[in-house]
Amino acid sequence: MDERSHARESASQVRPVPRHDWLSLKWRDYAALTIQRDSYFENIRRAGAFESRRLLGRIGTKIDRDEFTFLPPQVVNAYFQSSANQIVFLAAILQPPFFDPAADDAVNYGGIGVVIGHEITHGFDDRGRLYDADGNMADWWTEADAAQFKARAQKLVDEFNTFEALPGLHVNGELTLSENIADLGGLAVAYDALQLSLASQPPAPKIDGLRPSSASSSPTASSGGPSTGRARCSGR
Ligand SMILES: [Zn+2]
Repeated sequence: MDERSHARESASQVRPVPRHDWLSLKWRDYAALTIQRDSYFENIRRAGAFESRRLLGRIGTKIDRDEFTFLPPQVVNAYFQSSANQIVFLAAILQPPFFDPAADDAVNYGGIGVVIGHEITHGFDDRGRLYDADGNMADWWTEADAAQFKARAQKLVDEFNTFEALPGLHVNGELTLSENIADLGGLAVAYDALQLSLASQPPAPKIDGLRPSSASSSPTASSGGPSTGRARCSGR
């Protein structure tokens, strides 16, 4: 399979986990973890040991694609898990201002659309690209394309290195690269998806005086939707 076909296959095999599905996933069994009221420090220590044992116990085993991982559903967040090629949207993010079934398309594409694009793009960021469509760590890139990827990613690293969070304290473009690639990719994907959607509909009315393509990227448009590109997730 050539690289382009592989990328398409990888994207098509991304498994979304919608909110109605999480109850059917396997929840972690904490029966072996002891939590007591006497010592906060001891609770932390035991939780750390429990987690270490759990992770070590997975060595040599297969990925459990039905395991519910990371975050509880009431957290406003989403994530991509490369080892399962899976994107997960927690229940709390599937509501306004990120998603509102009654809102205009532009608002939803500019909200949850960007988040969905962000998580899919994680599958092809500097870390996600190291995994294949089945979630296995495998190098499926040609040398030429990998070199192109690194050269273009470096531009993003360089740009973010120039951002000063506080006087004299700069963003580390290398450390933030995967999120920055996902933000940029998510915004582009959501914008393209909105254009495709609008093309098959009658001309959309303006929202707060803005055309839908502008409203989708405006944090103040319509129902006060989220600013695009601000989603931060705990993808791996
Ligand atoms: Zn992310």
